[in-house]
Amino acid sequence: MVDPRRLAVLVDAFAGALGQQPDLIARAPGRVNLIGEHTDYSDGFVMPMAINRDVLVAVRRRDDGQVRLHSVDYGGVSAFDVGDRVAHDGSLPWANYPRGVIHVLKTIGAAIGGFDLALTGNVPAGAGLSSSAAVEVATIEALDALFSLGLKTFDKARLGQRAEREFVGVACGIMDQAIAAAGRAGHALMLDCRTLETTLVPVESGLAVVVTDTSVVRGLVGSKYNDRRAECEASTAHFARSRPEVAALRDVTLGEVEAATGALGPVVSRRARHVVSENERVLTAEAAFRAGDLAEVGRLMVASHESLRDDFEVTVPELDLLVELACAVDGVYGARMTGAGFGGCTVAIMPVGVVDAYVAEVVPTYRARTGLEPRVFTCTASDGASVVG
Ligand code: ADP
Ligand code: MG
Repeated sequence: MVDPRRLAVLVDAFAGALGQQPDLIARAPGRVNLIGEHTDYSDGFVMPMAINRDVLVAVRRRDDGQVRLHSVDYGGVSAFDVGDRVAHDGSLPWANYPRGVIHVLKTIGAAIGGFDLALTGNVPAGAGLSSSAAVEVATIEALDALFSLGLKTFDKARLGQRAEREFVGVACGIMDQAIAAAGRAGHALMLDCRTLETTLVPVESGLAVVVTDTSVVRGLVGSKYNDRRAECEASTAHFARSRPEVAALRDVTLGEVEAATGALGPVVSRRARHVVSENERVLTAEAAFRAGDLAEVGRLMVASHESLRDDFEVTVPELDLLVELACAVDGVYGARMTGAGFGGCTVAIMPVGVVDAYVAEVVPTYRARTGLEPRVFTCTASDGASVVG
């Protein structure tokens, strides 16, 4: 399944930087979220799909308690003693993802000794396809096998999330690590972010999932993201005053949001309307996928985009343009922004036979109208983390 040439490059790089051959290699994929945006931190529903781009992690035990980490793509070796408190590496930022994993494994008392590790990946970093979760989960998968830790799929997801939140310092939800750990070829995953219950959603092989990166340089994403979280918390607090069982916007209906518009004010009520309506769209999309009604899935994706644009206000003109151009291509079912917004990528669904027309029509028009070079990734639904060699 993994291109043998990539494995060979990794084994060579491992031997070159760290000496000897690895004991084993694990992988974990990047992801694209088909629908369910800005719902994860309101205990809602999301529908990500693991993609055919991944991070490979090669490991070998050492008996001297040393840990040595090497990135084939970024270069450098980051080393420390496994018995010491895990510190941040100030000069090799990539090393803080595997370091964070080792830190959280130690907090749960996992019996890990010294080891060498080398990693390489083809998930584009920072494009919104979640290369960071792929690094974390692939590292956990490799160490779980190397030290026979016996971790369950969702332990791996939780530990990866904790590494990113507690060590790297990004307040991410559970979606990215959950799909990296639990994805399944030929399927998207409907994830209930409250219970972590997952449902496999079949994605037929004739359907192309096409991600297009706006190439917009993002600014202030963190502070705007925090604003949205605070607005969702403000509306949750309002509803919880009269109904204490409301723990998140997940527990609120659209009717309640409409009725509370005056009390919430125009901005907060629009934010709440996005989250509540988006949860409904995810549930409807799951049913439509099962019924093979891809036109309906496409309409729901467009409605999701409009809600993110008008109510949640996290799109930028370039995202809106890409969606408009995608929907104008004959045969495209629908498109929307995916990820946190303020730049990043769109995702469009279409029959495989329409992809060439999509690229031919969307790329030059987008380039001409924005001066930006879009990057197109045609994705297929792939398996979650596993040991591959
Ligand atoms: P995203 O997860 O959306 O791709 P992030 O900023 O969360 O973006 O994570 C990107 C970071 O993950 C990179 O800057 C790098 O530190 C790390 N990373 C991603 N891919 C690799 C890789 N192949 N090797 C080492 N580190 C990687
Ligand atoms: Mg990330």
